[in-house]
Amino acid sequence: MSTETLTPYRCSIHTHTTLCDGAGTPEEMAAAAYAAGVKYYGFSGHSFSPNPADFGYNLPPDTSEYRQKVLDLREEYAGRMEILLGIEWDSWTEGEPEGYDYWIGSVHAVRDAEGGYYAVDASPEVFTECRDKAFSGDALAMVEAYYKGVAAMAARKPTILGHIDLVTKYSEREAYFDEASPRYRRAALEALHTADASATLLEVNTGAMSRGWRTTPYPAPFILKEWRGMGGKIIITADTHSPKTILYGYDAAIEAAKAAGYRESVILTRNGPRECAL
Ligand SMILES: [Zn+2]
Ligand SMILES: [Zn+2]
Repeated sequence: MSTETLTPYRCSIHTHTTLCDGAGTPEEMAAAAYAAGVKYYGFSGHSFSPNPADFGYNLPPDTSEYRQKVLDLREEYAGRMEILLGIEWDSWTEGEPEGYDYWIGSVHAVRDAEGGYYAVDASPEVFTECRDKAFSGDALAMVEAYYKGVAAMAARKPTILGHIDLVTKYSEREAYFDEASPRYRRAALEALHTADASATLLEVNTGAMSRGWRTTPYPAPFILKEWRGMGGKIIITADTHSPKTILYGYDAAIEAAKAAGYRESVILTRNGPRECAL
């Protein structure tokens, strides 16, 4: 595996299964990845979240079944495809991710003064409800709360900072706020600048494209360019929830990265990150 030319298409490490909110079993996802030519496949189930709306869609607090399943598949594919044990760690999960090959640090929800959770990526209806009930109709105040959470997550130095501008998931359909406004950009860039470019990768994530919400990957070009200016490296991910989307939108993600000036991206292996040409 080590001698062949590496490309981003050999790696898919932001992935979900039926053990959280995915449509494919771990076995089905691994088989689809192998069939797609992937050589480095990572499982990154959603960590347990205390948001009641997440119950049944995230891993349980005890992840032993998940870990065992991944390790069994690692054995099964040994010599053909490397399997990495990862986790997508939600900002509201208690504790710290331990015992994983890598972790994706993600914010999916903001909270109101009463402690209620609002996922920013659940639906336009939940987004609207959050804006109106928790932030008095001020979408940018909601955005600022979201990016405060991202900054706190970035400060924990995740292996990968997950879909940094997830809060724009519905922006192509609904004019909740102006992404060109100084207030929006300040919030996003403040969060980005909290990340340690030598410790954390930023993902170029096509998850909202495969599900029909967006025509471009996360993050927005201005964030990607700023990250490059900070010396930050990137990884292409599909945030796949189905065996059909293991490498979904990688072409578009590579184009977005190139447009921001990138010539290389990083893939994860069990021996650590490796750079490859885009
Ligand atoms: Zn996520
Ligand atoms: Zn995910």
